[in-house]
Formats: sequence, C-alpha cells, structure tokens
Amino acid sequence: MNQNQPIFILPEGYSRTIGKEAQRNNILAAKQVAETVRTTLGPKGMDKMIVDSTGDIIITNDGVTILEEMGIEHPAAKMLVEVAKTQEDQVGDGTTTAVVLAGELLKNAEDLLDRNIHPTVISKGYRLAAEQAQKIVKEIAEKITENDYDILKKIAVTAMTGKGAETAKDILSDLVVKGIIQITERKEGKLEIDSDNIKIEKKVGDGISDSELISGLVLDKEKVHTGMPNQVKNARIVLINSALEIKNTETDAKIQITSPDQLQAFLYQEEKMLKDMTEKIIRSGANVVFCQKGIDDIAQHYLAKKNIYACRRIKKSDMDKLAKATNAKLITNLDDLNPDDLGFAGLVESVKVNDEEMTYVRECKNPKAVTLLIRGGTEHVIDEVERAVKDAIGDIIAALKDTRVVAGAGAVEIEVSKRLKEFSTSLSGREQLAVQSFADALEIIPKTLAENAGLDPIDMLTELKAQHEKNKWAGIDVFQGKVVDAWKYGVIEPLKIKTQAIKSASEVAELILRIDDVIAGGSQKSGPQPSQGPTDSEM
Ligand code: ADP
Ligand code: MG
Repeated sequence: MNQNQPIFILPEGYSRTIGKEAQRNNILAAKQVAETVRTTLGPKGMDKMIVDSTGDIIITNDGVTILEEMGIEHPAAKMLVEVAKTQEDQVGDGTTTAVVLAGELLKNAEDLLDRNIHPTVISKGYRLAAEQAQKIVKEIAEKITENDYDILKKIAVTAMTGKGAETAKDILSDLVVKGIIQITERKEGKLEIDSDNIKIEKKVGDGISDSELISGLVLDKEKVHTGMPNQVKNARIVLINSALEIKNTETDAKIQITSPDQLQAFLYQEEKMLKDMTEKIIRSGANVVFCQKGIDDIAQHYLAKKNIYACRRIKKSDMDKLAKATNAKLITNLDDLNPDDLGFAGLVESVKVNDEEMTYVRECKNPKAVTLLIRGGTEHVIDEVERAVKDAIGDIIAALKDTRVVAGAGAVEIEVSKRLKEFSTSLSGREQLAVQSFADALEIIPKTLAENAGLDPIDMLTELKAQHEKNKWAGIDVFQGKVVDAWKYGVIEPLKIKTQAIKSASEVAELILRIDDVIAGGSQKSGPQPSQGPTDSEM
C-alpha cells in the first residue's frame, strides 16, 4: 500500500485505492462471494448453516438467502449480492448460477488483465458476448404452454431437487403445478399469473408429504363464537371490510347518562343497531361471515344463533384472496349487500392443527386464489421447503409467461459456450479473446455441478463437449455420474433463469472491471453492527 502521498485531498479517515490495486481488490472480493456459494450449486450441492448475531439459525442451499444473511460489507462483494437479489426478484430462482457466473467472468477477466489487455476492451468484449449469448440461448430454447403438465412438473422437480423439499418433491411439484394452473387466467390471449394468488401457509407437524393444496384459503383464524357450527357445507360467504360494531366506541365521545332508564334505553339502542346489522347479513342468505375488522359480542351472539360461521380481523390481503377464491364482492356498507355479492365454497370448516384453530375455506369453484399448506417436522425444515417451493413457483410462472424453456444440468451452458466460440472467430484480435473468455466462463456451471457431485470435472467436460457435437441438450446426470440427454432426463428450466443470469452476471462484471479508483468514506463507527460471525473474507 502506498501511503506516502504528499498531499491529502481527502478528509481524514477516508481511504483510497487506485489503479490495478483497486481493480484486483474488487475482483478478489467478488470472486470470494462466488466461491462461497459455489459449493451449494446443483442437486448435490451442500447446505450452509448461518448463525446470526442473535443466535438464530438458518440452514439453506439457496444462494440469495445465504448472501443476504451473511451481511457482506465489501462494496464490490455487495454488488454480487445485488446480482443475486435481482435474479430473485426477476425470476425467483437461479441465484447461485448468476453469482457463480459473475465470479468466473471476473476470474477470466483477471487473466486477460495479466496479459495486458485493457479493462475497457474486456468490458466491451463481454458486452458483445453477453448480447450474442442472449440470442443463442433464445434460439436453442423449446416452446411450452400451460397444457404441458409433464414439462411443468419437471420444471418444479428440477427447482426442488437437492433442496429441503427433496424427499417429497414428487408430491410438492404436483401441488405447485396444479395450483398455478388453477390461478392462471387468460385475458385477451395473454396469460396472467400472479404468484401472490398462491398463498403459502406453513404449519409445523406431520411430514412434508402431508402438505396439501387447498382450492381456496387457509386462514389463521378461529370462529368467533363457540356456538357457531364447526362446518358449513355449501357455504355462501359474505366478505365485510368494515366493523360489525357500533362506531365511535373507540373514540372519546362522551354520553351523559343521568338515570337508569336512560342507560337501559342506550344499551337497548345499541343492541338494536347490532341486531339490524346481523339481520341484513341473515337476509342476504349468507351462512359464513369473514370480517376484516372486529365483530361485537352481541353481533356474534345473533350470528351464532342463526348457525352462521364467522371470523374477524382477517388481513386485508387475505380478504382480497378470499374474494378471488370464492368470487365474492367486498362489502363496506351492509345496506348495499345483496345475494349476488356472496361468494361460494363447498366447505368452510374449523380445523385444529397443533392445538391451533384455523379456518379452511375449501372446494371453491374455479378459484383464482389457492393455498399451499406446507407441513414438516420442524420449523427449519418447513422454511427450507418453502424456499424450494417458491423457487418452483417462480420457475413455472416464468416458463409459462415466457413460453420458453431449456434443459439444465449444464446442457444449456455448454451449448451457448460452444456457439459463442464459433461466433468469436468472426471477431478480431483482443475482442475475440474477451468473447472466448466469456464462453469459457459459462463452463463453470457444468464444471461446478460435476465437482459438487464428486465427479472429475475435466473428464465430465470433455465428454460433455464431445456429445454436444450432435446433441444440444447433453448434460450431466450428477447422480449416475454420466453424460445424458438432459431434456429426456427431465432437468428443465425456464429460459428466463438463463437470460437473466447472463445479463446480470455480465453487467456486474463489466461494472467492476471499469472501476479503477475506490474512495471510501470515514471509518465505520456506526456501532450497532459488531462484525462478528462469518464474513466474506473467510473463504
Ligand atoms: P440456483 O440457485 O442457481 O438455482 P441450484 O442449487 O438450484 O442453484 O442449482 C441449479 C443447477 O442445478 C442448474 O444448473 C440445474 O440445471 C442443475 N440441476 C438441477 N437438477 C439437476 C439434476 N437432476 N441433474 C443435474 N443438474 C441439475
Ligand atoms: Mg435453483
């Protein structure tokens, strides 16, 4: 470090690294991030246990989760974490792939830097390569539609293989695909799928394979009155988003009562108003009430007397889902309520899960919101299953919306790499080198899959490349340790995972390469983060 600068242009406490040193530091930090998550890639990847400062434990295989929980501080390393987050937001899966690819792009760039190729040349070559790679991967992708149940299921299985959901991936992938197809809507020829309409509810207890898809909703609410029925068949449901209480009881309105008669009259008046409210509900023909606000005791009593099932204080988001699932209208003013506004469910029932009472709204007709109830032995298990299921949901939605998928297991990366190398021969000199480095970097995915499975990466890559002479979907069966047709083998992923990963990885690599000056503000005395626990400098 050259600290003998004669003139200080920066305030005290600022540090500055310039030129090659800045570049190498940044690359090193980014590579370390990639190295950290690399061992988790693929079905045979290992898990990480992260213990945070409060002692909470997370066991996961999910790239973005690991990076978020690590609390990385180095600025260039943080940029890689951002890559994972973007991938997570845009697709929901492929976070490790994106980060590992970015790390390898930087590693190969370093070799070019060593050969005295200027960073802007590398950067330009990478951009060219990334654009070409996008074209190639779209070219080789296969088409699918929402009717391809088998392929969709394979996408889900691929997303879950090697994760906490492994043991029940068959059952879970079936539930996920059916759930998504259920909430898919076609409007003016375009598919509309919103992952929010699959509610994920988690309950500890039983095994993962006891998870179920409910054509409706599971509410973490009990019925408000013990006199209400436990089950309502052919439920006619009213959704009310205002309170079934007398207004103003919460504000400080004062009423002067001077005689017992007056008190009696007041109470009577109040009771009458509540009774009127319930009467309106009863008259509409409803036998189930879901209320977003409170329900007064007296109203509860009248509803119970009429065998009406009611829950109160339901979350706004759940009210919206109930509307979608049961096809009910949200009612604010009971005077507007008419029978058409009611929703339908084949069955509404109160179910005890682990001593906790919940309300299941089942058997909705063509519901546009459904619930996936995840079961599992412990909270850690369920949380990891949830992450795997969310990956699967993200993948299927991405595949359906974009209608294009590719075969994984290293197949797509090797094919793109191969065609990119062919493309590079049309370029001249240094750019050609950069594009070739980009193409080489793609090989890190099959190479890592092989390594993580305890296979010889060189043998596997040689065999893979040979097979790609005639089969674009040749990939690695990491369980058998041999090269197979990954499409037939059923490792299928949405195209979007790959296009997004290539995009963000190359962008961040270019960005980091172009930095030659790091000016860091005053020492971090921000206190509350004792930087104990695992940090990025540990690997
Ligand atoms: P990411 O966070 O990038 O999704 P994963 O740990 O989910 O990381 O691993 C994804 C990689 O594993 C992809 O390259 C995918 O093609 C590969 N893969 C998934 N299932 C299999 C399988 N059964 N055999 C070989 N490779 C697989
Ligand atoms: Mg994945």
